[in-house]
Amino acid sequence: TKEDVKSYLFRNAFVLLTVTAVIVGTILGFTLRPYKMSYREIKYFSFPGELLMRMLQMLVLPLIISSLVTGMAALDSKASGKMGMRAVVYYMTTTVIAVVIGIIVVIIIHPGKGTKENMHREGNIVRVTAADAFLDLIRNMFPPNLVEACFKQFKTNYEKRSFKVPIQSNETFVGAVINNVSEAMETLTRITEELVPVAGSVNGINALGLVVFSMCFGFVIGNMKEQGQALKEFFDSLNEAIMRLVAVIMWYAPVGILFLIAGKIVEMEDMGVIGGQLAMYTVTVIVGLLIHAVIVLPLLYFLVTRKNPWVFIGGLLQALVTALGTSSSSATLPITFKCLEENNGVDKRVTRFVLPVGATINMDGTALYEALAAIFIAQVNNFELNFGQIITISITATAASIGAAGIPQAGLVTMVIVLTSVGLPTDDITLIVAVDWFLDRLRTTTNVLGDSLGAGIVEHLSRHELKNRDVEMGNSVIEE
Ligand code: ASP
Repeated sequence: TKEDVKSYLFRNAFVLLTVTAVIVGTILGFTLRPYKMSYREIKYFSFPGELLMRMLQMLVLPLIISSLVTGMAALDSKASGKMGMRAVVYYMTTTVIAVVIGIIVVIIIHPGKGTKENMHREGNIVRVTAADAFLDLIRNMFPPNLVEACFKQFKTNYEKRSFKVPIQSNETFVGAVINNVSEAMETLTRITEELVPVAGSVNGINALGLVVFSMCFGFVIGNMKEQGQALKEFFDSLNEAIMRLVAVIMWYAPVGILFLIAGKIVEMEDMGVIGGQLAMYTVTVIVGLLIHAVIVLPLLYFLVTRKNPWVFIGGLLQALVTALGTSSSSATLPITFKCLEENNGVDKRVTRFVLPVGATINMDGTALYEALAAIFIAQVNNFELNFGQIITISITATAASIGAAGIPQAGLVTMVIVLTSVGLPTDDITLIVAVDWFLDRLRTTTNVLGDSLGAGIVEHLSRHELKNRDVEMGNSVIEE
């Protein structure tokens, strides 16, 4: 019909615009690079991109709350219990697979080559034990003050040491880091101070706490029958309104993405100085992420649903590119919702329920990267890891990915937990800071892909409950 044709064109206009944005952004970035813009000029230049970030972040808070409340309220307790179980099993399985892939590729490719002398380097940055971080995660699930949770997260006093200890430059380690040790340390100080104490938070919001509260609240409303009706309608209509705002922002997204990408290319370090081991490390991370995102996840989707994963992934294109542009799975969340619901027709009861949770705790790309990077740092230090230590790394990398917030470079910081768990020097994070902005974009894209395919898989597995619920509620049932 005419409507179909219109919506087809509409959808492809987005795909076209998005792809164009990436290409034009890249070309523009490389064209302007030789002009060596000043910091201020780069800031001005990237302004349209910064605006996109801010607009998306603006919607995240009301979106998480309204979608979870309505998502839970729309399901009966049996259905939500089963769906929740399926989502958790999917998250755990894929995260563990990701960690294993990370470990295998870094052991096979072996990008880090150290010399014995590097073994006893002095200096530690922060000591965050896995137990501290774990307790923090649980604490954050129960914010004592809901209003405060919307703009402030719980802070712990980790045992923090000063950054005074200068990093010993590792002679075999050829990289931008060596030239820029102090700059790298500064970046690390900044992100550590901002982020380490923030388990499960999103740009200052205690997302995990709000997720838990909204789920419980929605669950209760769903069981209240008529008495809960007013609240249910309120959150339903709030959710609808937010999604309409997302639709508006989506038109601006290609412009924002163009400038985010171009701005970053103008700003980035000269690739020439990123030599040797760091380059190999980058390649290793890319290989690992590709195996997970291009082979494992689509295969899993196919095995479970028997549908073509590439059609599904095609519908996600704008979300994936937004993840690439923003380095933040939470900022991408509004777009992920749109893509899944509108392009892929995933049931809203599923997306509303699983997406906010997925964006907060399910990070395959981050898990893969944390395990891989920790082992790389061990290799650089010529630190032989035994099997037990590799298992410890897998467990802490999984935990660190759950604890990492969906914001830029959060994974770099939660890596402190992984390194501490096996006694590796945490100040060696500075070795990989130079390339992290780039790897962060790739792992964020993998994270968003994992969340989205998860929603498709959970929907497929829950189709009977969803249909029964439709019959019960007298909704018209659409046969597949
Ligand atoms: N930036 C990532 C995300 O938002 C988290 C990370 O740093 O790994 O998903």
